Amino acid sequence: MARILVDADKCQGYGQCCYEAPAIFTLIDAPVTYVADVDESLRDDAERAADACPVQAITVE
Ligand code: SF4
Repeated sequence: MARILVDADKCQGYGQCCYEAPAIFTLIDAPVTYVADVDESLRDDAERAADACPVQAITVE
């Protein structure tokens, strides 16, 4: 399992994470809605989303 954490105070709703990992992140309004515990097979997508976030709001553990 990979654990996703989004810092709600940092997230500005830019939505890049949703393009990189649509199975994890859904943008309705800021802060982004997301699945906190995802299968290991989605770890690469989650890390791409974390790299793409312009405010470094995403942590993947
Ligand atoms: S890319 Fe970052 S700032 Fe944008 S919606 Fe995702 S978590 Fe929020």
